[in-house]
Amino acid sequence: MRSCALLVFITLGISQIAWSQTYYPAEELLRLEKAISYHFDPLTLIGEIHYQKKYIRLLPYENFYTVNSVVVPIEKPAIIQEGSLYFSAELFEEILGELSLPIRYRFRGKKIQLEKAEPLPQLRGEIPTVIVLDAGHGGHDPGAFGYQGVREKDITLKVTKFLGFHLKSAFPKTKIVLTRRKDTFLPLEKRSSIANKFYSDRYRTIFISIHCNATLSPLIHGFEIYHLAINPTNMANRETELRENLLVGEEKIRELTSRLVHAQIQYESKLLSRSLEKIMQKELQGLVSSRGVRKADFAVLRYALMPAVLIELGYISNPREAQLLLSERYLNALAKALEMGIRLYSENLP
Ligand SMILES: [Zn+2]
Repeated sequence: MRSCALLVFITLGISQIAWSQTYYPAEELLRLEKAISYHFDPLTLIGEIHYQKKYIRLLPYENFYTVNSVVVPIEKPAIIQEGSLYFSAELFEEILGELSLPIRYRFRGKKIQLEKAEPLPQLRGEIPTVIVLDAGHGGHDPGAFGYQGVREKDITLKVTKFLGFHLKSAFPKTKIVLTRRKDTFLPLEKRSSIANKFYSDRYRTIFISIHCNATLSPLIHGFEIYHLAINPTNMANRETELRENLLVGEEKIRELTSRLVHAQIQYESKLLSRSLEKIMQKELQGLVSSRGVRKADFAVLRYALMPAVLIELGYISNPREAQLLLSERYLNALAKALEMGIRLYSENLP
């Protein structure tokens, strides 16, 4: 099973490397939507993109861009070719998400496939109608093993139940769905298909998959919040990606990579990640630190048709964090912070 999964990963990895070496002319943005304005100043080397209330600025060869003055790090910056600005696939995908356009996209070698999509409903400030909570792993899939035999599948189930409880009392009108309530095995696609049953373009559904991380070094600690990117370039996230995609077959991966991704859903997933991170940092200060909002190509997120995030609550390979994650009081505090993060996301919806 392990070698088969590794093969899948390598296949995915190779295609991503090919994409990551491809650059796309910045002018491609102009064919997305008439209202987008783009300007590149060859003297100052500043590229500027305006669309509605969004203002993006970037410099070639710099590992960040700003959106309305907020700095966002990137691994593959823009470059200059024959006096024009070219975006890496990673940066192009970031910008598509930031502009939150009603389009679907896919990177195919040197081309970006773009299709018009139904816009998401404008539900400014509204709490989601359905929240699907997914406790990672279960049954014969224990997930990661940690310090003193701590099992990922047990922690994820407990936190998910606590979170369900908090959400029910905070948002009584919201339907809370748990993909599993017991120690049972569920394939990744089944988890998202439970969520997809509730998907509708009339109301808002979000999907939150809960996990714990582990690695060889007992020193690494902290929580991470992931949203989907089809061009993740951060090699540091690959180990987590490999582990969380372990039980997905090659055929399923191929089917997933052929799908187009909705830019507005990407934007909202990013917004949800940022909101959750902000509140977790504030509420759990001194207990757990943030390793940041990150991008990864997780199968469980690719399958979901709605804003979706995957949270790695902490490292069970770190003795201190494993101890914390064994405490029900701490798990309850984590769940409460996540509930508050969902509220912040709702308040910030465009
Ligand atoms: Zn996991």
